[in-house]
Amino acid sequence: MLRVDAFICLVQKKSFIKLYTCLSSPHEVDNRHMLLSTWKRKQNGFKILVACSAGPHPTANSYLSTGTNTEKESSAIDCGLEEFSWPSPNDEIPFWKKDFPLWDVSQEVFDDTEKDPDLMHIIHATAEMAPIAKVGGLGDVVTGLARACLLRGHKVDIMLPFYECIQKQQINGLELMTTYNSYHDGQWVPTNAYRGVVSGIPLILIEPSNHFFKGPAVYGGCYNELEAYLFFSRACLEWMQVTGTEPDIIHVHEWQTGALPLLYWDMYQCLSIKKPRLLLTVHNMEHYGECSKDQLSKCGLDGSLYATIDKAVDDRTIGHNPERLSLLKGGIVYSNAVVTVSPTYLKETLCSGWLASTLIRNRDKYHGILNGVDTAMWNPATDVFLPAKFHAENIEGKRICKHYVQRGLGLAPNGSLVGSCLSNDTNRVPLVICITRLVAQKGLHLISHAIKHIEELGGQMVILGKASDSRVEREFESLTNLHNQGTSVRILLTYSEELSHMLYAAADMVLVPSIYEPCGLSQMIGMRYGAVPIVRKTGGLADTIFDIDDQSNQDMANGFIFEGIDEGSLNGALNRAFHHYKEEPDRWNTIVRKLLKIDNSWNNTAGKYISVYNSIRVR
Ligand code: ADP
Repeated sequence: MLRVDAFICLVQKKSFIKLYTCLSSPHEVDNRHMLLSTWKRKQNGFKILVACSAGPHPTANSYLSTGTNTEKESSAIDCGLEEFSWPSPNDEIPFWKKDFPLWDVSQEVFDDTEKDPDLMHIIHATAEMAPIAKVGGLGDVVTGLARACLLRGHKVDIMLPFYECIQKQQINGLELMTTYNSYHDGQWVPTNAYRGVVSGIPLILIEPSNHFFKGPAVYGGCYNELEAYLFFSRACLEWMQVTGTEPDIIHVHEWQTGALPLLYWDMYQCLSIKKPRLLLTVHNMEHYGECSKDQLSKCGLDGSLYATIDKAVDDRTIGHNPERLSLLKGGIVYSNAVVTVSPTYLKETLCSGWLASTLIRNRDKYHGILNGVDTAMWNPATDVFLPAKFHAENIEGKRICKHYVQRGLGLAPNGSLVGSCLSNDTNRVPLVICITRLVAQKGLHLISHAIKHIEELGGQMVILGKASDSRVEREFESLTNLHNQGTSVRILLTYSEELSHMLYAAADMVLVPSIYEPCGLSQMIGMRYGAVPIVRKTGGLADTIFDIDDQSNQDMANGFIFEGIDEGSLNGALNRAFHHYKEEPDRWNTIVRKLLKIDNSWNNTAGKYISVYNSIRVR
């Protein structure tokens, strides 16, 4: 018997050769399974020169099959599933909470990206960063864009509040770098700046000695959030000043760091920082950072100076007592460039919403750049959270993931184990997932309606969602009580990065019925894991998903679209998706393979950010 801890291959792309390690769980195996194979990972142009595994682990086997008949071949070799430890809803520790290997995705990245000619230093000032401080897409975007720019040769740092909830073991090389004072409300607050690296990305963590950023979650601690982020915005600039750091670009995100451009131009430029130029990305116009003049004054600016229509006053409050300010609007006015996260959302925001007039006034510097997926973090061929890996050339692992999730959640499983392999599904039951913050924007009435309709259609549905509003939480708790007893619906009212990866991998379809959606990542992540999106046509969903039944656009076709916000419109899209899934299984598998090959990575869009950075930087 032989113990196997890893699956290793030597990989070549053009002249670049790298030893590539794909960890699987340790196995005791008989050495008759010793395998040696060559295999081309066609979609990425990689050639695996030598791949060896000594085990029957499905990970290894799904890699080691070759050619187009890979599924049959890998089953014929040995699926190794008799040794597989299947989860159950009765497990003491739910399957998504067990210990996973520490995952340094930077190891997965091939650094053969072409370098940009004119390199610069970019510092992001942000409230979220995946995976250590992520609540939604903002965290994913910051990490993915930072990684893409690093790979293109730029120097990138991310400045993040040192939230108490951050798990320090996820940060490599964490060390105290600077101790300094930063201003808040008439006092200088002793503050620490730590440095570290998360998934290959350099990080600067700002830790004030007061109560800010304490608590069990990124948001919702027992402190005034607005004041905490005003403090953070100034503390980022103060750190640059005390350390003499002058990046070319300070990239701020959302209202949380919207005051930073005001502080920069009206305070720190008059002190010693001269070089940086500012770019604001607006991920969602609905979060506008409502702020009183007095609150703004707490960061050291004179809040009353910003209460004008051309600066930061919230247009809706003009003539009311008191008038309010919006940190987002201030950020838009004071930044050198403003980006929102999809071309369609850009158009929508110019036509409606109270910020439209501000955006029209600033149209020349306002850009729509589609978000990308961080393909290092989201990769079904290497994802440590998956019980079996897969890729476009071999989707057997996806079937295993589905079976695994179904068994773990107590849903009726598709197929059954025959010997050491999964039988072909005789009774094809589609699994639909919806992974989302449970807020009105996401189409809550459509999500709850989908549960009923999917059950009627004979499908399965898993919702992974977290509500910040207690009324919404109660509403979904009652749906949970109603549906979680059966074998076709599971509603999990929690946040779990690990479970989200497994669900994307297990899903046949991913539902995104948003009322509005600036970009949306879950439809793109879903496609990366072979789940067919069913989306409402709005914002970034309209830019990324093209209907499979639209005969005029079959090249781009990748999902099902509906337009109305009524239940009937959603039913129509679900009915069509179920029909395709059940009646045309071969075509469905072809679509899944097509999705697995679609490139929604930052490789496509980071260059657009670089162009905007270049257009504003000072040389
Ligand atoms: P938004 O930024 O509005 O939340 P996006 O679709 O752009 O929406 O991004 C959502 C991101 O957050 C995705 O990575 C999604 O998988 C993740 N996510 C949302 N809710 C949860 C949850 N309850 N558990 C784990 N991940 C979640």
